[in-house]
Amino acid sequence: MKKLIFATGNENKMKEIRMILADCGYEILSMKQAGIDVDIVEDGDTFEANAIIKATEIQKLVPDCVVLADDSGLEVDYLGGEPGIYSARYEGVDTPYEIKNKIIIDRLAGVPDEKRTARFVCAIAAAFPDGRVETRRGTIEGIIGYEQAGENGFGYDPIFYLPERGMTTAQLSPEEKNDISHRGNALRMIKEVL
Ligand code: IMP
Repeated sequence: MKKLIFATGNENKMKEIRMILADCGYEILSMKQAGIDVDIVEDGDTFEANAIIKATEIQKLVPDCVVLADDSGLEVDYLGGEPGIYSARYEGVDTPYEIKNKIIIDRLAGVPDEKRTARFVCAIAAAFPDGRVETRRGTIEGIIGYEQAGENGFGYDPIFYLPERGMTTAQLSPEEKNDISHRGNALRMIKEVL
């Protein structure tokens, strides 16, 4: 069976990826399973550019395999798209999300619902042995809540409120989130080019 490596060290992402790509005809391996341990500098200025850098750099190490890589983050319209591609680094990589989330809520103090729009974005790049590279972008739209809510998920989930569901993405079960998430959407789209 052909091999597909997903360039992430995040086990939660691997679970989601295995679920969605289960029947795509590839054996799916994490970087660890493929024996790859590299740190790649993501210095692109878009989600797509960073995903392409990761996928193509790693693909060079495993020339017979397809490599997928993702880059994701939160865009808050009122903040001009911040934190965007800097989502992981926003206010410091080691700053707990409870604090990062509080800072965003505070920066939106007094801002009404209609101006609190935001989205999670996920770009996935696929690098193939013949040099072909494809990218797909998935998004999910929401608004920034007035307080943090929910214990599920990670990162900015407790402040990402879905008005149509009346809850944040941190209050969805993992399955419910996969069904509608930016990453789930991008994965379902990239599956079509595999
Ligand atoms: P990366 O693509 O794994 O580097 O993710 C970048 C950052 O975006 C994460 O560290 C989170 O801060 C944020 N992020 C991406 N996806 C999500 C999500 O589904 N929920 C909450 N935060 C997310």
